[in-house]
Amino acid sequence: MNPDEFRAWGHRVVDWIADYREGVRSLPVLPATTPGEVAGALPDSAPEEPEGYEAIFTDFERLVLPAMTHWNHPGFFAYFPANNSEPSILAEMLTAALGAQCMSWQTSPAATELEQVVLRWLGDLLGLPRSFRGVIQDTASSATLLALLMARERTGLVNARVYASEEAHASVEKGARLAGFGSSALVRVPVDADHAMDPTALDAMLERDLQAGLRPAAVVATVGTTSSTALDPLEPVGALCRRHGVLLHVDAAFAGSAALLPEHASILRGVEHADSFVFNPHKWLFTNFDCSAHYVQDVDLLLRTCSTQPEYLRTAHDREVVNFRDWGIPLGRRFRALKLWFVLRRFGVTGLRSRLRRHIALARSFAEQVRAHPDFELAAPVPLSLVCFRWRPAGARARDPDPANEALLQEVNRSGRVFLTHTRLDGRYTLRLAVGQELTAEEDVEAAWELLQKGAEALRAEKEA
Ligand SMILES: *Cc1c(COP(=O)(O)O)cnc(C)c1O
Repeated sequence: MNPDEFRAWGHRVVDWIADYREGVRSLPVLPATTPGEVAGALPDSAPEEPEGYEAIFTDFERLVLPAMTHWNHPGFFAYFPANNSEPSILAEMLTAALGAQCMSWQTSPAATELEQVVLRWLGDLLGLPRSFRGVIQDTASSATLLALLMARERTGLVNARVYASEEAHASVEKGARLAGFGSSALVRVPVDADHAMDPTALDAMLERDLQAGLRPAAVVATVGTTSSTALDPLEPVGALCRRHGVLLHVDAAFAGSAALLPEHASILRGVEHADSFVFNPHKWLFTNFDCSAHYVQDVDLLLRTCSTQPEYLRTAHDREVVNFRDWGIPLGRRFRALKLWFVLRRFGVTGLRSRLRRHIALARSFAEQVRAHPDFELAAPVPLSLVCFRWRPAGARARDPDPANEALLQEVNRSGRVFLTHTRLDGRYTLRLAVGQELTAEEDVEAAWELLQKGAEALRAEKEA
């Protein structure tokens, strides 16, 4: 290959990225594309002969870009964020350049040691006891599966039960199935009025199951549920797990970042009872997907669950180093600690905290406006930066607010200015506004609120006409 060409195109790509970030607000968050359109515009087979970057890049702009959902658009309020930032993007470029495989210390000494150090920094910032040791997994789903595999290692599968609240993420059910417990071994613990796990109910279920000769293997508590950021109480849940020797895994995929803020550190009160804890810097800590920070207290249990020692991977250092290939499912691992290191250093703790605080403040001011409006209502408490709410339509639509809210969501998302998604809370269709993109500003949250009010107005007029 030609180093001068690489240099020239490298500069063009970085310029493109800078322009993209500056101009992304003017692009539609959701693409105007239909299923099959992109595939249909691509050739049937790979090119026989090399093509120039000019042609490839032109097609990137012509075919790919218009069919992308822009996750880092400032008007992206859907699901939970998968955010990024300049230092994270730069580090990802370097990770790609090094192209290292970080399965063991020997295959990438700096990657292994940096991963240990940044995860300790991060654990300290979250207030995790130093008895937790950290590893970067690809996703929270994998960390939850690993926790359940650890529970299986400890308790076995016979008569085993796994407990999680009715609001736990779908990855818990998937993990229970993949780990061999099966969906029927997953016991759903009822939630309280705020959609958080009811520890009294958990207590009763554990007692009942133990008396029936069943074997409680794991409890998965959620700090910040996906529907509404409900916070399962770790102190009482952890005490129950301790008493019965049940493995406790804490899924704080989105909300964990908030524990960096002293005023929100209490969301993890009781986490010292957990055997396993995961949160996603790739959701709300400005670090490109993928990067899940997974902490365990009993490393030996994790190693018993995952480690193998094939001859071809043995090295002279195995006794004195950590080989992260034994801390997770895949053998191969990307150098993900680099972007986290760049982010932590470039923003500093102060910069991270101010960004998180800004998001929480934006969500609260949106929630205030919803609360104050006669035709809208909040559907759940707003502990962090997610607002769950509903339109309360008057007239004929009042009898059936679910389709009315669904229509309103579609109307607002059609604008291209913002993107919101929905959930179901207490059986009712509920709109969600999740603030968490780095570039999101007050004007974007205001645009969402105006579009919602105008959309409601338009739908009301339509119904009356
Ligand atoms: C997003 C989310 C997950 C899944 O995260 P991945 O990293 O995509 O697997 C799990 N649990 C909760 C509570 C989430 O919000």
